[in-house]
Amino acid sequence: SNQLMAGKRGLIMGLANDKSIAWGIARALSEAGAELAFSYQGDALKKRVDPLAVQLGSEIVLPCDVSDEASIDALFTELENKWGRLDFVVHAIGFSDKNELRGRYVDTSRANFKLTMDVSVYSFTAVMQRAEKLMTEGGSAVTLTYYGAEQVMPHYNVMGVAKAALEASVKYLAEDLGKDGIRVNSISAGPIKTLAASGIGDFRYIMKWNEYNSPLRRNVTIDEVGKSALYLLSDLSSGVTGENLHVDSGYHIVGMKAVDAPDV
Ligand code: NAD
Repeated sequence: SNQLMAGKRGLIMGLANDKSIAWGIARALSEAGAELAFSYQGDALKKRVDPLAVQLGSEIVLPCDVSDEASIDALFTELENKWGRLDFVVHAIGFSDKNELRGRYVDTSRANFKLTMDVSVYSFTAVMQRAEKLMTEGGSAVTLTYYGAEQVMPHYNVMGVAKAALEASVKYLAEDLGKDGIRVNSISAGPIKTLAASGIGDFRYIMKWNEYNSPLRRNVTIDEVGKSALYLLSDLSSGVTGENLHVDSGYHIVGMKAVDAPDV
């Protein structure tokens, strides 16, 4: 295997289980020689994340609820104590009340709008505030977004609005941190069956639609997202920042239903 990440140390946030996009990314980075630390949301996930971290030889597995500033501070204090320096961050975190990931966007509640924006958007900025201080030799960060930020997708609703804000924050972060040699990019992944995705209404239909209508005529895997993340986190993309890389079988370039697409 390649050793693109030999000597690099990075934090993976958002691993829930072996279906998580974070897992595909972690595997690609580990195979490329990276040393990984993981953060997980709460005690319920610890028992799932611990054995996965062990598989990749990681000795740092720490709790972090990104809606809590003290929790983020505690994570980064631990990382600073253990490692001192940080080279990369993967932010694969999003949340919204699943009752609002169906029906109409216009019916979004104020409380869930705030919660969705806080966990899915602000958290990346909050993390980069801390990561900047540890990225003393430059660095690279990747967050995960979805096409629902750019175009209206059924049921994505407030999460689409949050992803639009996340994509804008990637650009502002890229400008602020670029002077320190820190690059900030996003991956816009096609639909993948994960825990988070199961909360989205008619997700199976969305998967089928993408399979039938994307140029590659199939859905993407977490390993494919992982390989693209490896590019963005490694020196291969040293001239790239503020970018949104679509890993979606090309779906985002399509203007109309494919002529050979079966009915879904
Ligand atoms: P997942 O359920 O495996 O991961 C989501 C993670 O977010 C979980 O690990 C969860 O613990 C974490 N999280 C939620 N609230 C948190 C909080 N308050 N503090 C800390 N962590 C919290 O699902 P996934 O699909 O791998 O999601 C990863 C990212 O990819 C998300 O940003 C998602 O929006 C994005 N994404 C997913 C798809 C898809 O189709 N699955 C497509 C494009 C983008």
